[in-house]
Amino acid sequence: MFGKRFYNELKELEEKLLTKKSFIIIPHYNPDGDAIGSALAFYLILKKLNKKVKVISPSEFPSFLDWLPESDKIKVIWNKSQIRKDIFSAAEVLIAVDFNEIKRLGDLSSEFEKSEAFKILIDHHPNPMQFTDLMISAPEYSSTAELVYDVFKNIGLHKFIDVDIATCIYAGIMTDTGSFNYNSSTPNTFRVVADLLEYGVNKDDAYDKTYNSFSVDRMRFMGHVMLNRMVVLPEYKSAYIHISAKDRRDFNEKFGDTENFVNIPLAVKGIRFTAIFIERDNFIKISFRSKGNFDVNKFASNHFNGGGHKNAAGGESFTSLQESVELFVKLLEQYKIELLYE
Ligand code: 5GP
Ligand code: MN
Repeated sequence: MFGKRFYNELKELEEKLLTKKSFIIIPHYNPDGDAIGSALAFYLILKKLNKKVKVISPSEFPSFLDWLPESDKIKVIWNKSQIRKDIFSAAEVLIAVDFNEIKRLGDLSSEFEKSEAFKILIDHHPNPMQFTDLMISAPEYSSTAELVYDVFKNIGLHKFIDVDIATCIYAGIMTDTGSFNYNSSTPNTFRVVADLLEYGVNKDDAYDKTYNSFSVDRMRFMGHVMLNRMVVLPEYKSAYIHISAKDRRDFNEKFGDTENFVNIPLAVKGIRFTAIFIERDNFIKISFRSKGNFDVNKFASNHFNGGGHKNAAGGESFTSLQESVELFVKLLEQYKIELLYE
């Protein structure tokens, strides 16, 4: 709970939610469980208030989130040609969830920027850019979904929470905390989760539907990647994975299949920093994870056009897969002292 914090922001948010009629909720590009869970929770609660509301996702979301209530109502932007000038014109209010810079909307960024709707950001990433009229940014939260719950509670919307809304919030928290295994969860996270369970969330079902829903192709792909594409560098307490476009084709990769691969080498004893480089159509998508003090948010923003959190960040590179990896290995030498001793 917030106490006096966000007093003015919450008052303004409440006023907008109650008085405005039409809303569009927007998660970030390549949305994860937190972005989709938070967006759907907002969608469902606004429906309960009889508002006109839509979720527009800047890109496809992983199929392991298909089971979330009303996820089939999300309007997905599959390609640029769907982005009309009037894409946001039906809404008086735009609610952005789970990102801290406008660039993370991909091709939707410029329409978002141009829109005259009232813009709200609800997010938990550090150092947010100012790109909305109202911002509720709380980096100490494990997830945007946990924050959304406290926002609802603080403005009296919790009386509208039902099992579907609670399940969307739970899924956001579960996925962003690595099922409560990352260091990002706090006593407040568990208090929120306790409340969500009281609303009837089936946590075991949520886990099963999210994490035990892989295809056989994905399991074989993971086997191939761990055996042939993981490079462990104990001299830097680091490991990285590189996946080419051909690897993705050979294993019939579906969107979301590589999610979580980057965490696996962190389970090797002594490894504190991991990276994954994935050759996508026009760029190399990179993810970083760390344990302890090594700040991958800074590393990603300093060297790979990205950002995120201290222990989980992402970025991109516009050179080849090989060049991106070579730069990474060179940087490890530069960061050796931090990697080994901090
Ligand atoms: P992932 O590696 O799973 O894509 O993302 C890890 C964290 O970093 C998430 O919080 C995500 O929102 C953030 N992130 C991922 N890619 C980018 C990026 O290109 N730029 C920024 N600023 N954050 C990113
Ligand atoms: Mn998040």
